[in-house]
Amino acid sequence: MRDLSRGQQWLSINTATVRAQWSLEEIVHALERHHIPALSPWRDQVAQCGLKKASSLIKNAGLKLSGYCRGGMFTSVDQAGLTAADDDNQRAVDEAAELGSACLVLVVGGLPGALAGRALSHDMELARQQVEDGIGRLLEYAKSCNMPLAIEPLHPMYAADRACVNTLDQALDICDALDPGNSGALGVAVDVYHVWWDPALESAIARAGAARLLAFHVCDWLTPTRDLLNDRGMMGDGVIDLAKIRSWVEAAGFKGFAEVEIFSSLNWWQQPGDLVLRTCIERYNSAV
Ligand code: ZN
Repeated sequence: MRDLSRGQQWLSINTATVRAQWSLEEIVHALERHHIPALSPWRDQVAQCGLKKASSLIKNAGLKLSGYCRGGMFTSVDQAGLTAADDDNQRAVDEAAELGSACLVLVVGGLPGALAGRALSHDMELARQQVEDGIGRLLEYAKSCNMPLAIEPLHPMYAADRACVNTLDQALDICDALDPGNSGALGVAVDVYHVWWDPALESAIARAGAARLLAFHVCDWLTPTRDLLNDRGMMGDGVIDLAKIRSWVEAAGFKGFAEVEIFSSLNWWQQPGDLVLRTCIERYNSAV
């Protein structure tokens, strides 16, 4: 059983955590300085750096990718939008493969039209069907590239605009429908911020098992939360029982990294990047 709590050999930093302070190139060098072995970059940061350059920077630094953020946004009010999402998601798979990522993380999209600024559909069933259909189409392509897809359920406060998959069991139902053989090509990203409140979390993590547990994201839930998107807490500053959830993930046989992902416009994005990384390491060891 992997023990994620010892030292920092299984620590990864989601680059959103220090995106306000540093470019991707600067983040890579900072991770080297702090002896952090893995990262999960975002597509816009990679695009800014250039895909080839980002890939060689990361490989030359000896860093692993715990994931790549992100694909998804499968819902749309029209066919043109669905097709555009398919095309963009295939490019995301290609980028993830070029970078050598462990998986492509999927944030699946909310009600059709939500992010396009169009009139919002009220049809949640349609949204969820579009998501399942879109993942099914992408899965065929991702398999041909050997790139596992990790569905990340988001907290229900994002159901309208970001993700209509809101529990781990709901994500696993999609996995079971599209990949009944449990091939390893489709699984889930367990982000404590999104799922810590779920009374079925322990059983859902056990249900996922090693083959479907593709990513594990940590931060903390602050009370009160002042911003729905960008007020995530540092591990240990909030109410999530991180060690308990980590023990469930370990017991299920998770083989990846524990990835720190903190969006924090009100606090951590205003601190020096090196201080943020030092704090991530400290809190990873004391609170996760
Ligand atoms: Zn996450």
